Amino acid sequence: MLPFESPYMELSAKMSIWLNGDLNSKLVRQRNQEQVFSILRANDALPVSELSFRTRLSLSTVKTVLSDLEEMGLVVVKEQGASTGGRRPALYAVNRTAAFVGGVSVGYRYLKCGLFNVDGSLIKMARVPIEDLKPEIVAEVISKTLVDLIEKNGLAKEKVAGVGVSQPGSVDFAGKAILSTPQETLKGTTLWEKLTEALQCHVFLMEDINAHIAAEFELGEAKGYEHWIYLLLGSSESKWGIGLEAVNKGLWIRGERGLAGEAAHMVIRVGGVECPCGRRGCWEAETDPEKLFKNVLEKNGLTVESLEELFLLIDDRRDEKDTQFDAAYNTFIALLGEGIANIIHIFNPEKIFIGGEVVTLGEKFLEELKIKTMSCCLPPYWKNDILELTHIIEDGDVLGAASWVIGHLVFLNFKAY
Ligand SMILES: [Zn+2]
Repeated sequence: MLPFESPYMELSAKMSIWLNGDLNSKLVRQRNQEQVFSILRANDALPVSELSFRTRLSLSTVKTVLSDLEEMGLVVVKEQGASTGGRRPALYAVNRTAAFVGGVSVGYRYLKCGLFNVDGSLIKMARVPIEDLKPEIVAEVISKTLVDLIEKNGLAKEKVAGVGVSQPGSVDFAGKAILSTPQETLKGTTLWEKLTEALQCHVFLMEDINAHIAAEFELGEAKGYEHWIYLLLGSSESKWGIGLEAVNKGLWIRGERGLAGEAAHMVIRVGGVECPCGRRGCWEAETDPEKLFKNVLEKNGLTVESLEELFLLIDDRRDEKDTQFDAAYNTFIALLGEGIANIIHIFNPEKIFIGGEVVTLGEKFLEELKIKTMSCCLPPYWKNDILELTHIIEDGDVLGAASWVIGHLVFLNFKAY
C-alpha cells in the first residue's frame, strides 16, 4: 500500500497550478505548510514565534500549519525553548526519519542512487555503471540499487515516500514523460511506468538542470533572492552543455509545457557551427570548449579526459601566458559574454549564478567574463555583482532530485507510518 491518499494525477495538477502561481485556499494552506516545513528543514528546532517572523504568517496560522504537519508525522515537538520569563515555548523540528526519499541521477555511463532522510541528510549513496539505456533496464538497475540500499541500511521499504530521478531530457509537468532527450531510448513514459511498478511509490522524473536548481534552492547561494537565473556551463558527464532556469518573484518560470529556458539553442552566429539540434550557430555548439581548444590541444600533443581536466589545463596555460591558448580562450569568453548579455536583457535578473565545470576556471575567468558581458549590456541592466560562480554542489543532481520530492511531501498528502 502506498503511504499517500491522493492519486498521482491529482497531485500533478496541483503542482502545475502551484508552479503557475494560481492559488486557491487549499493550495495556500499547502503552500504555507511547505514554507514552514522548508524552514524547519534548514534549522534544528524553532518556536512558533520565530516561524511566524520568518514566514510573515500570523501566530495562529503557524500554529494551524504546525498541527497539520504534526498530524502528517513530518514535524515533532522537540523540547522546551529558552524562557524569556514565563512558560518556556515549545520547539518544533522535522521528524527526520518520518520517511525516506530516493534521489537518482541517470548519466550516460553510470547511475547514482542516494537514499535521504526527510531533512535532506544522506543515508547512503551508490554509483552503478550502466551499459544499456533501455528504459526497462535502467528502471531495473535503479530499483535493484535502491532496494539494496534500503535493505543494507535496515530500513523499511514502505517508508520510502518517493523517488526523484534526474536525467538530461526535458520532462512534462507531471514528471512522468521524457519529451526530448539526448538519451533517445529513454524518451516516453516507460521509465516512469517501470519504476513506479517496481518501487510502489511516487516517482518524479526531472531534467538534470532542474535537479541542480532544486539543490541550489536547498543548499546554494540563491537563497534569499527573488529574481535569479541558474546558468549551467558544463556537464556532469564530461560533454559540454548549457542549461538555464529562471526564477521570477521566487517562482520558477517554466512555460506552457515546462520547457522554458532553452538558452543552449539560441543562435548567436547565423550560419555558424552545426548543432545536433539541426540548426547552425547555437550558443551551446559555438561555445563548446572541446571544439574551440581542439586545434591548440592537437598542436601541443595534449589530450584531456574530461571537461574539468580541460579547464584546469586552460587555467595553467593562461598563467604561463601561452598565446595559442589565449586566442581560443578569448573566443570562448567573447561568445559566453554575448549570450549572457542576451539573457540579462530578456530576464533582468538580480543575479545569474553560474554552475558547472566552468567554475574550475575561477575568479579570474569571472572577472574577464564580467568585462565582456558588461560591454554587451545596455547600462540600466548591468550591475557589477550580477554574475557569480557557485561552488559545485557535489552530487547536486541526486540531492536535488530527492529534495524536490521532500519539498512536496505536503502536496502528496503525506502521512507517516
Ligand atoms: Zn542547437
